[in-house]
Amino acid sequence: MMLHLRDTLTRRIQPVEPLESGRIRMYTCGPTVYRFAHVGNLRSFLLADLIRRVLLYHGLEVLHVKNVTDVGHLRDEGFDRGQDPMLVQAGLESKTPEEIAAAYEAAFHADEAAVNILPAHVFPRATEHIPEMLRLAEALEDAGHAYATPEGNVYYSVGTFPGYGRLSGNSLAELRAGHRGEVEPDKRDPADFALWKGAREGRLLKWPTRRWGVGFPGWHLECSAMATRYLGPQFDIHTGGIDNVFPHHEDEIAQSAPIGGSIPARHWVHGEFLLSDGHKMAKSAGNFQRVTELVDRGLDPLAFRYLTLTSKYGRKLEYSDRSLRAAAAALESLRGRLRVLGAPPDSGPWVAPSALVAGSAGDRPSGIAAGTAGHGDGAGYVPHDRAGDPTAPLSAAGRALHDRFVAAIDDDLDMPVALALLREILRAPLPADERRWLILDADLVLGLDLHRVWEDAHDAPVDLPEAVSKLRAERAAARLERDFVRSDAIREELAGLGWEVVDGAEGSTVRRRV
Ligand code: AMP
Ligand code: ZN
Repeated sequence: MMLHLRDTLTRRIQPVEPLESGRIRMYTCGPTVYRFAHVGNLRSFLLADLIRRVLLYHGLEVLHVKNVTDVGHLRDEGFDRGQDPMLVQAGLESKTPEEIAAAYEAAFHADEAAVNILPAHVFPRATEHIPEMLRLAEALEDAGHAYATPEGNVYYSVGTFPGYGRLSGNSLAELRAGHRGEVEPDKRDPADFALWKGAREGRLLKWPTRRWGVGFPGWHLECSAMATRYLGPQFDIHTGGIDNVFPHHEDEIAQSAPIGGSIPARHWVHGEFLLSDGHKMAKSAGNFQRVTELVDRGLDPLAFRYLTLTSKYGRKLEYSDRSLRAAAAALESLRGRLRVLGAPPDSGPWVAPSALVAGSAGDRPSGIAAGTAGHGDGAGYVPHDRAGDPTAPLSAAGRALHDRFVAAIDDDLDMPVALALLREILRAPLPADERRWLILDADLVLGLDLHRVWEDAHDAPVDLPEAVSKLRAERAAARLERDFVRSDAIREELAGLGWEVVDGAEGSTVRRRV
């Protein structure tokens, strides 16, 4: 068994076979740090996290690189009008571009940590890789794939790359037609794209070059140069949101392939959008939500993680108060049903698997920090093929449930089926130890921090009666719905059964009344 993923390039579902024995190299298009990441961006980063966790579950090491775009984002229309997003934001916030980038980069790390995304091993910043970008642009010019213009712009000549359009399924004729009317008179072909732009008046972030005067890089060039630097000319997986397919990844292939000798990634995986009111969540659309807003509203950010697991990554997912609250209630009921199985033993065959630890924002590497962060360093995580060789003495029925869970995650990340299996495991006629172990083991992939359900229950008896646990979960769901009348009624009901509810910052616990 192995993870199978849908590859955007071949449009087929294919097994992930590591290029290098035992290790996967993965590149994820990361955040643009002149604004906050929204939960839509996080959906794409969660997809990469899920892929990484499934591969770890198969006993593979994963080297993960996620870039930080801290110089003008080419995809923004303003780029072609010479507008500098950093400059615009700097003006708005009365800060330097560096201060802006640093603040939003820190916010991004906090957001990722809040939804349990394992930190990448390298978070290369675009501004720290200008020499690599220039070398690539020069090599492309030398090879006849790029040309410079008197304005100090350097364009990639798409007609020189026969595979151009393959990833996105566009033909050059269509692309040319689509570009009609654009105002870039120095382009030879309307479908050509900029590798480098000459800096005009007012641009803050700019660099001198040997060949083309002072300018700044295109967004696509950033990813080609940084992926090659950290992962080599060919690596296993490249991920991003669906809007990265064209032009970003199409252009990345065109830049990297002629110099590196092959298409840079073996698998191109793209996640569908998170929608809000039926539209793509985007800052420009004004339907923008940060994950911190959930916390402000008393919701657990992991409810958002749970929500993303309720849909296949290749499908659009609607984000609304309703869908989020339903996910929060489902997560709370899952926790409640796990909690009643009792805390795991300290030793013996059913000791809990060591969790993968995403770490707090402060622990996350920044910039070019290498290392093995995210493998739960120090938390005792050891790569092992947990999928093929579970580490607990499962019964035949337990093993069958485990195998079905593995089959679901391997089937192009069929997480809705995997979540349904969790409920089946909880209901299965198996000893509590086995059910708990299966759930906690599965959580290495799900990343819902289920091992924490016993943390706040230390002064409560380990075995909560079924009725009490059910009421506790219902009350938590009512509180999420802000149905305080119902939540107070349940409190009374619990009191009638001899249980007291204690509401704290970390959630509510119940304890026997004395
Ligand atoms: P950006 O900072 O705009 O480059 O976006 C970072 C990542 O988030 C990219 O991989 C985008 O494809 C992805 N993304 C942007 N908006 C959404 C959305 N509404 N749903 C899912 N992914 C998104
Ligand atoms: Zn990228």
